Amino acid sequence: MTATVPRLARHLEGGPIAVEIRAAVSEDVASFLARTGRAPGLTVVIVGRDAPSTVYLEQILRSCAKVGIEGRRVELEDEATEGTITATLHALNADPTVDGIIVQMPLPGTIRLRAVIDAIDPAKDIDGIHPVNAGLLRLGYDGFLPATAHASVEILRRSGIEIEGKDAVVIGRSAVVGMPAAFLLVREDATVTVCHRRTADLAGHVGRADIVVVAAGHPGLVNGSMLKPGAVVVDVGINVVDGRLVGDVDFESAREVASAITPVPGGVGPLTNALLLTHLIRAAERQVGPANSPAPAS
Ligand code: NAD
Repeated sequence: MTATVPRLARHLEGGPIAVEIRAAVSEDVASFLARTGRAPGLTVVIVGRDAPSTVYLEQILRSCAKVGIEGRRVELEDEATEGTITATLHALNADPTVDGIIVQMPLPGTIRLRAVIDAIDPAKDIDGIHPVNAGLLRLGYDGFLPATAHASVEILRRSGIEIEGKDAVVIGRSAVVGMPAAFLLVREDATVTVCHRRTADLAGHVGRADIVVVAAGHPGLVNGSMLKPGAVVVDVGINVVDGRLVGDVDFESAREVASAITPVPGGVGPLTNALLLTHLIRAAERQVGPANSPAPAS
């Protein structure tokens, strides 16, 4: 008698998709430069010297440099007041060479997040955190999407995973990941359930899902025994366990049951970064107007 060898899930790698996206962005940046005489500009505002957020910042600025986007940073002291931060943002809003603004999170605890978010011009809010962009997403209009949520659905679309008509479960209801991912899946015609910390029967919901997007920040929250055979799993989580980067899904057990799964690292992460660049070039193009618009009268 031969033992049955489990068929392991296909890995949905974000890296190769990110390479394609960055190549397209490079071309768009070159034509923007040729048309306007300047490179599109992204400014990252960082308050204080929080180590993890600096690493993320460096990654963003490196990817900007690779595609010809002018990445700048504005560093404010740990002690910066809400007034200083919002004044900085208003100045960046008014600067025509700044096409996109990202404020690195987390902010010091004394600063009201809402006051800072409200101070960003929605037209430059390329990570979709302003209420105007959240509202546009909610209504199905064309605003800026939070890059991680965008990546969690785009990795499915670009990997040829069918979403329409599928039952999807999103674990996590944050404004930056879980909820926008759920709205995007609804937009793709999935039937979506959003689970969170107070969900009574998480395993029951997950076990019925064709697509499971996990964005909880809780390593091992989902494992293979919870999944419906053949489910597609998008692991958005980023956690460090024993010095290793892991997601929210127990990868080894999940890949024996799922039909496809995003690895951590190498899944959603690289795509998030690349999509942010597409948001930036779109913001830049919108701010200077369409390519075929007539030159202003002199
Ligand atoms: P968050 O802490 O703001 O939200 C977590 C959500 O998960 C909450 O809605 C909470 O209710 C839910 N949750 C937590 N524990 C749960 C449990 N045991 N059962 C059910 N629901 C639970 O986090 P966030 O900012 O939305 O980020 C989520 C994860 O995504 C984190 O691991 C974060 O590091 C990661 N992340 C990844 C990227 C990327 O590019 N891949 C970007 C941003 C965030």
